[in-house]
Amino acid sequence: MRPLSDISIQYMKGVGPARKKLFENLSVESVEDLFYLFPRRYEDRRKLTLIKDLKLGEWQTVTGTVLDKGGRRTYFNKKHVFEITIGDDDASVFCVWFNQPYLERYFNVGDQVVLYGRPEVFKKRIQIISPEYEVISGEDEKLNMGRIVPIYPLTKGMTQRYLRKVVHAALELYGRQVRDVLPTDIRAREGLWGILDSLQALHFPDDENAQREANRRVSFDEFFLFQISVILRRMSIIQKAGFAHRLGSSVITDFEKNFPFMLTHAQKRVIQEIASDMMMPRPMLRLLQGDVGSGKTVVSFFGCLVAFLNGHQAAVMAPTEILAEQHYATFAKFFGRSSFGKIRTALLNSSLKKKDREEAYAAIKSGEVDVVFGTHAVIQEGVEFKDLSFVVVDEQHKFGVKQRALLSSKGENPDVLVMTATPIPRTLCLTLYGDLDSSVIDEKPEGRGETKTYLFPEGQADSVYRRVAEWIAAGTQAYIVYPIIEESEKMDLKAAKAMYEHFCKNEFKDLKVGLIHGRLDRKETHEIMQKFQHREIDILVTTTVLEVGIDVANANIMVIEHAERFGLAQLHQLRGRIGRGEKNAICILLGDALTEDGQKRLEAVVKTTNGFTISEEDLKIRGPGQYFGRSQHGINELRVVNPLTQLHVLEAARKEAAALVQRDPFLAQSGHRLIKETIQKRYPEYLERVLAG
Ligand code: ADP
Ligand code: MG
Repeated sequence: MRPLSDISIQYMKGVGPARKKLFENLSVESVEDLFYLFPRRYEDRRKLTLIKDLKLGEWQTVTGTVLDKGGRRTYFNKKHVFEITIGDDDASVFCVWFNQPYLERYFNVGDQVVLYGRPEVFKKRIQIISPEYEVISGEDEKLNMGRIVPIYPLTKGMTQRYLRKVVHAALELYGRQVRDVLPTDIRAREGLWGILDSLQALHFPDDENAQREANRRVSFDEFFLFQISVILRRMSIIQKAGFAHRLGSSVITDFEKNFPFMLTHAQKRVIQEIASDMMMPRPMLRLLQGDVGSGKTVVSFFGCLVAFLNGHQAAVMAPTEILAEQHYATFAKFFGRSSFGKIRTALLNSSLKKKDREEAYAAIKSGEVDVVFGTHAVIQEGVEFKDLSFVVVDEQHKFGVKQRALLSSKGENPDVLVMTATPIPRTLCLTLYGDLDSSVIDEKPEGRGETKTYLFPEGQADSVYRRVAEWIAAGTQAYIVYPIIEESEKMDLKAAKAMYEHFCKNEFKDLKVGLIHGRLDRKETHEIMQKFQHREIDILVTTTVLEVGIDVANANIMVIEHAERFGLAQLHQLRGRIGRGEKNAICILLGDALTEDGQKRLEAVVKTTNGFTISEEDLKIRGPGQYFGRSQHGINELRVVNPLTQLHVLEAARKEAAALVQRDPFLAQSGHRLIKETIQKRYPEYLERVLAG
């Protein structure tokens, strides 16, 4: 029997080539993908709210008949406005949409509609702005009415009703071919539903309990399979022969002497952990978590030094060129002239000239370079090391497991230190980085100033600019951050480029203003950053390229415009760029949250300075997909709604996975064949060579 992952969606009735394209937008190509297309939410249409019972300010599903409709353009800015009135025997309510003129043709007077939205009072009447909508047809509506109904993520040109029909038909036609990966003993022990019942309930639950059980089962599978691959990967790595570095008794004290400051207790503890890992013959795989500015970079240099002292090479990989350069420069600052002798370094980045690049590659290959700094360039094909024994991956969440695996393969199982400034809740961390040991720097260097954060509506921008000018006159420097580089028609947002030009002519015309963003080339960025560092620039207008890296002690003011457009962890990262010197710093968030929740979130960033709290909050709100970026991160491949809401399922799956691997490390038993097949297909980067035996 062909697996459902090989059966194209096109074999479904009602799915032609054009529709197939639309499905691709939803990452649905096979029948299996369709089964795992998660509803975004569910609507309980067993009892719909009557118009007279609508509550202001709450999300509700309401039904009624279209009594009246009309479109117009606003006098003020020519926006298209479309309104309908829906009513029943007792009451009526207005619904309004902006800039969707095609709706004039979609709704007809007399249609019965189901709407999902939040009623509010505007100019003394009750209205719902941009509700989700569905016109109910006279036909058989057993999929769409009188039950709990799935609401899917949609793509333009596709409707909820169409999707429900296709999913339902697919379940009828192919449901019985779904294979259950879970061994029955595990299913029984964990009290999990069978897979077909679960998939049916995932899409068309009979009640809330079915919905919950479906979700639990599907999530369990995902966690379970991912965990097995993570555990197998870890086993395969620690069984390999790595470098057993030797450490002289005074290395740590000698290392400390290279800094003009005392290392914190936390830094010292982590250095010890790294030292003992590196001495062991098995490869180190360690995750280092610490808030921005906690001094991770300095700690990672210890590993580079150990590699150097043992006659091997080290590599430091950063997510951006700015950051790679900064690490390179910082290393030179502390170790350029050290008691350890000359440590030869190289910086690899994408703008190296061909000749220089080739020279650098040759030097790395021949062992003339001891420590290599760079971005992803470091793991590109051409780079060969003579003898790589230590690797730092900074800001891991921007890298994927695949890249990590590739980097490790550049040497004979080098020791790897992965650093991240966005702390991850423990259980999730075990899932994501179950293959890594963990270290935490939970202490900031002493003598740092404090950063105070304030939140103002965008409307107060002008007075904020005035204050910024005053602060600059008093001797500090400032960042002003925007969510986008260029203005766009789609969104009414201030953009970095336009604001830079505006500032140069207006508010800050007597000051020196600079601009950096992701589309400048490296040289320009570098020049501007240097000027900023040397105080030849007072105000740096920027986008999130600033997020990681950049360390200018005199810059103590940061203004972030349209703060509601940023993730919380991102705001926290940005804010970490100031308050690095001894003086206090001020971060001003300008923004108008679109919802009350949004407002609360911004207020949370104002109130707390703890990165852990903020990132947990962020994860809860946005789910890990967006949180970790679009990188090839294992977690993005997980078909679960949001792991943070299911930590107990995750924990159970982790235990079962560990027990299973213990019983059958090569997944050789016949009852585990499907598990093996599935993970080989889904997580090949974890399992390269692992299961070959
Ligand atoms: P992270 O990588 O964790 O964001 P960095 O390693 O870049 O932090 O350190 C931030 C700044 O603090 C750097 O300028 C670094 O030189 C400095 N620093 C690091 N450790 C200490 C310490 N123990 N005391 C004082 N300053 C420190
Ligand atoms: Mg850092």
